[in-house]
Amino acid sequence: MLEDKNTHRTDLSQLGEFGLIDLLTRDFPLHNPSSLKGIGDDAAVIDFGEEKAVVSTDLLIEGVHFNLAYMPLKHLGYKAIMVNLSDICAMNALPTQVTVSLAVSNRFPVEALQELYEGIRLACDIYKVDLVGGDTTSSTRGLILSVTALGKAPLEKIVYRNGAKENDLIVVTGDLGAAYMGLQILERENEVFKVNPNLQPDLEPYQYLIERQLKPEARKDIISLLEALEVRPTSMMDISDGLSSELLHICKQSHVGCRLMEDKIPLDPTLINVCEEFALSSTMVALSGGEDYELLMTIAPADYDKIKGNPNLTVIGYITDESLGCNLITRANEAIPLKARGWNAF
Ligand code: ADP
Ligand code: MG
Repeated sequence: MLEDKNTHRTDLSQLGEFGLIDLLTRDFPLHNPSSLKGIGDDAAVIDFGEEKAVVSTDLLIEGVHFNLAYMPLKHLGYKAIMVNLSDICAMNALPTQVTVSLAVSNRFPVEALQELYEGIRLACDIYKVDLVGGDTTSSTRGLILSVTALGKAPLEKIVYRNGAKENDLIVVTGDLGAAYMGLQILERENEVFKVNPNLQPDLEPYQYLIERQLKPEARKDIISLLEALEVRPTSMMDISDGLSSELLHICKQSHVGCRLMEDKIPLDPTLINVCEEFALSSTMVALSGGEDYELLMTIAPADYDKIKGNPNLTVIGYITDESLGCNLITRANEAIPLKARGWNAF
């Protein structure tokens, strides 16, 4: 059911490199005045005027970062853009342009790459970012996809990981752990499918979790919200590897400690149910499961009134002096040292 349903199969060699680039990039209207020159020349030209440029890049390898058995190509395209836009948002900047480079083997027909670009197009359209370039080449095996995102922000708005101060509040957007449990479900159903391809899994009860895995959203809306609330976080990053590992990054770079309250971590009710089904602790999943692409930030105590009661922003703890270390305060009111057990590329 998650397979791409293309009936036609056009061989890549039929189009050639330039025909392929033309076909894939034909339907990408430019949304931003800062995109002076997009696809079609030796380089794109971007004009950010007085603002600073923010750049981030990611490389995705088939079999390492994604599995096409349960990741439809359209979702892969969407997600590849999203994870990069998320990095730009994590700087408190607004994403404006992307470039997409791919290496493909002739195992992929033209139609498969069109599916991939349909996901890329959807992401660019919804987030109003411009595809302004890329590169296309062949690989001996599998698919390799690299996305670079550009964004802009006035210098005084840019937020780094190293600005957290003692007594700042730790704030997170959305809810955590769902993308990881979505992956557990997809992997479980894929194993069942390998044994009995006639069994159609009932994924309905897991829809939210699967969507969080296959179709994550960058929190561009939070950048606008922070601006409207007149809050500039003291530090910020996106949660790609899991809450504990990201919070440890902020604490290390800011030379501070933290107290993270277990009972404050925002969890979706579906996540709690499915963690029970898998006999996993939902706290552990929220701490160590990655790919939620929510934003983790610290804010000055003076800004608390501005964010209080906002359903998008949850206070989950506070920053302490470095000497106190980084601790999780459990529901039983015990302090246990936070460990980075997030996804590790190696
Ligand atoms: P060059 O030979 O200078 O690398 P190419 O012929 O590879 O240029 O690319 C032509 C144009 O198409 C450039 O603007 C390039 O950025 C763009 N482009 C190439 N491949 C892709 C792709 N996969 N997605 C988006 N744009 C691409
Ligand atoms: Mg090229």
